[in-house]
Amino acid sequence: MFETLKEQPADKILMLMQAYKEDPREQKVDLGVGVYKDPQGRTPIMRAIKAAEKQLWEVEETKAYTGLAGDPAYGDAMVNLVLGDAVPRSNVAAAATPGGTGAVRQGFDLARMASPGVRVFHSDPTWPNHLSILGHMGIEKVPYRYFDDETRGVDFDGMMEDIGKAGKGDVVLLHGCCHNPTGANLNPSQWKAVIDLLLETGATPMIDIAYQGFGDGLDADAEGVRMVASSVPECLIAASCSKNFGIYRERTGILMAVCNDPAKQKLNQQTLNYLNRQNFSFPPDHGARLVTMVLNDPELRGDWAAELEDVRLTMLGLREQLAAELQRLTGSDRFGFLAQHRGMFSRLGATPEQVEAMRESHGIYMVGDSRFNVAGLNKDTVPVLVEAIVKAGV
Ligand code: PMP
Repeated sequence: MFETLKEQPADKILMLMQAYKEDPREQKVDLGVGVYKDPQGRTPIMRAIKAAEKQLWEVEETKAYTGLAGDPAYGDAMVNLVLGDAVPRSNVAAAATPGGTGAVRQGFDLARMASPGVRVFHSDPTWPNHLSILGHMGIEKVPYRYFDDETRGVDFDGMMEDIGKAGKGDVVLLHGCCHNPTGANLNPSQWKAVIDLLLETGATPMIDIAYQGFGDGLDADAEGVRMVASSVPECLIAASCSKNFGIYRERTGILMAVCNDPAKQKLNQQTLNYLNRQNFSFPPDHGARLVTMVLNDPELRGDWAAELEDVRLTMLGLREQLAAELQRLTGSDRFGFLAQHRGMFSRLGATPEQVEAMRESHGIYMVGDSRFNVAGLNKDTVPVLVEAIVKAGV
C-alpha cells in the first residue's frame, strides 16, 4: 500500500536550514528558522530552566503517567501566565500539548468537533504550518487581509472587512503578539475593534500565542489575549513555551478553551482530555514540569523573567540598529518599520529575486517571502545585511 503515497510538500524553512548548512562560505548569516540566538549565535538553555532541571533530577521519583491534561499545576501556572486575572480560573479548561503546534492542532480538532463545517479565517500571510495543518485536516481556510505591503504595517481596514465575513460556527485565528511572519501587530484599540466585530458576528476567536515576552514584555504581549478572553463568550488559546522558556525540543505547549459559564467548563475540559487521549494520550511532561517549577518559585521566576527581558531587549536593539543604519545609508525612512515591528520576525518586503540576490552576494539566508529572524543577527552582521539590502535594491 505504501506505493500509493504521494510526496508531500517539503517545509520551506527546513529546506532553507539545509541549504544554509551546505553553503561552504565562511561569511554566511542564517536568518531563517525561528529560534532565538544570542550574539554568539548560540541558543542557550535559560539559567532558570537549567536550575530547575538540576532540582528535578534530585526530587523526581517517578516517571509514571501524569493526567491526560498533564499535571494540573502546569495548567494553573500557564493559565495564570497567559491570562493573568482576566477571567476566573473556573471558566478555563486547559490541557498540556506537545508544543504550541500540538495546541494549534488540537484547537482545530476541537473546533471541528463543535462545528463540523467550520471555516478557519487566517491572516494573509500566517505561520505556514497553520495552513499546512488545516489543509491536512481538510478544514476550509479563508484568508483575511493583514499586511500592508506599502506601510509594512497592519492593513486594518482590510482585515476588519474580511473577518466581518466569519459567522457563528467559524473560527478567526489571531496571533496573540509578535505576528509570524510579518512582525506587524494590532494595538489595543484595534484589538477592541476586532472584539466588537466578533461579538457582532458570533465567530469564535482562536489565539495562537507563541512569543509571549518577545515583543513588549510578558504582560503587554498578553494584553490582546486577555482582552479577548474577558470579552467574548468563548475562545480558544494555543500557547507555546518553546521560545520564551527556550525549551524548543521538549515540546511544551497548552491549549485553553475559555468560556463565560463555569457549567460549560467541565465539558470543555473533558473534550480536551478526550482529544489528547485520541491523538497521543498523555502529553510530554518534562518541559511542562520545568515551566511549572520556574513559574512557581519566586527566585527562579524572577531570574527567568530577567533573562527573557534581556533576550527581548537584545532583539529590540538589533531592530533599532538595523533601522538606523538603513536610514543612514539610504537617506530614507522607509525602513523605519523594522524598529516598529515586534518579536523575532519581520517581513522586509523584498521580492523573491532580491532575497535570492542577497543569498548569492552576501550569504544571507531568509525565507523567500523576505521574512527574516532578527535574532539571527548580531552587531557585526547587521552591517552585512544592510549592505545586502542596499545592493539588492530593496
Ligand atoms: N505558532 C506560531 C505562530 C509559531 O511561530 C510557532 C513556532 N514556530 C508555533 C505556533 C509552535 O511552536 P512549537 O510547536 O515549537 O511550540
